[in-house]
Amino acid sequence: MPLDQSELDLIRGSISKIAQQFNLDYWRKADANKDYPWDFKNALAEGGWLGMFMPEQYGGMGLGLQEVGIVLDELGRKCGFNGNSVFQYFVFPPGPVIHHGHQEMKKEFLPKLATGEEMMCFGVTEPDNGVDTSRLKTFAKKDGKRYLVNGRKVWISNAMNADRILLLTRTAPRDPERPFDGVTLFLTRLKGKKGVEINRIDKIMRNTVDSDEIVFDNFEVFEDEIVGEEGKGFRCLIAGLNPERIAVAYTAIGLGRGALELTTQYAKDRVVFDRPIGKNQAVAHPLAEAWMRLEAAELMTQKAARMFDEGKSCGPEANAAKFLATDAGFMAADFGMQFHGGYSMSKEYHISRFWMETRHLKIAPISQQMVCNFIADKVLGLPKSY
Ligand SMILES: Cc1cc2nc3c(=O)[nH]c(=O)nc-3n(C[C@H](O)[C@H](O)[C@H](O)COP(=O)(O)OP(=O)(O)OC[C@H]3O[C@@H](n4cnc5c(N)ncnc54)[C@H](O)[C@@H]3O)c2cc1C
Repeated sequence: MPLDQSELDLIRGSISKIAQQFNLDYWRKADANKDYPWDFKNALAEGGWLGMFMPEQYGGMGLGLQEVGIVLDELGRKCGFNGNSVFQYFVFPPGPVIHHGHQEMKKEFLPKLATGEEMMCFGVTEPDNGVDTSRLKTFAKKDGKRYLVNGRKVWISNAMNADRILLLTRTAPRDPERPFDGVTLFLTRLKGKKGVEINRIDKIMRNTVDSDEIVFDNFEVFEDEIVGEEGKGFRCLIAGLNPERIAVAYTAIGLGRGALELTTQYAKDRVVFDRPIGKNQAVAHPLAEAWMRLEAAELMTQKAARMFDEGKSCGPEANAAKFLATDAGFMAADFGMQFHGGYSMSKEYHISRFWMETRHLKIAPISQQMVCNFIADKVLGLPKSY
């Protein structure tokens, strides 16, 4: 049963209260120091918010993506991508486990994730195959009841603090006729295990949550750590991909709104030629357009989230929401940079963080070009180009 408006307002109000304790100055400092924000994560955990999207039988709140979206929007707006990401890693990575994990795995792991006792990361991307996931090379070779994993992953976020990794590997060579077969998904312990090296990437934004290169050298994983079936891992992964796209869309809308709020205030306060810069239509109209585009993108995102919550297939809608929302979010932040003038370059004004964060969302977790490829092929029926 979806919640009614007063319940949704209550969620937004509660998150807003937490966010107020962690203002943009807090995130500026944490981002510069590259510190994981444990106090912020603990505040979310105390309210039970980390388990919001997990089923009640495993200690979660059992809420849908529409409700989760409110939290992502509010955290994006008030805390930027740093705060929003802390929450996100409790939302979409467990999806394949919730939908395809076996009972024991779910009973043992999900309650720990829901309370924040454990953390996880999502290990898909590799250095050499880019967005062509079917060509992944990390290989888990069977050796009795165990498998030995060798290979490299890159850009895996949250790995430094993750207790476990959802790890996509090949367990059979790629068959060009069925390129996504022979891929297996494992949920396995990462922290304290042998055969793994994690190297942090020095990146330009969202530095409170690390992104890493991971090297596996005879890293042990076990049969009972397989999510779904051996060789069918890609199908299980899909359970995490559509909610990820929708979560990213809500995030981009929140970031766009945060940027727009900062810029609107600046346009009211900054006086040049004896008038606030916001009195010039060359400044006011782009900000008005940014507001409209964010509102429109939110409608598409809500549609995708509603379809997902109703158990309907929502690939085109989830992808369209991601495309439109990240475009709108970046547009708001880019106008924000322009109208902050020279002060946009000062970190004290925060707008540059929103700009880099929304720019990033046009590239990852899926690029705008790959969204267009998907829509052209799956919706319009044009010849597949990828
Ligand atoms: C900060 C950050 C955090 C991340 N976190 C995670 C994580 O936690 N887990 C994880 O698994 N991954 C993560 N990623 C990886 C992310 O999903 C990839 O970076 C992203 O999918 C792009 O992959 P790539 O860089 O290899 O692009 P490439 O495949 O090298 O592509 C480069 C560009 O070419 C374009 N391109 C390539 N082929 C085509 C085509 N056929 N048609 C049109 N355009 C094409 C792409 O769209 C892209 O714009 C993260 C990335 C970043 C930057």
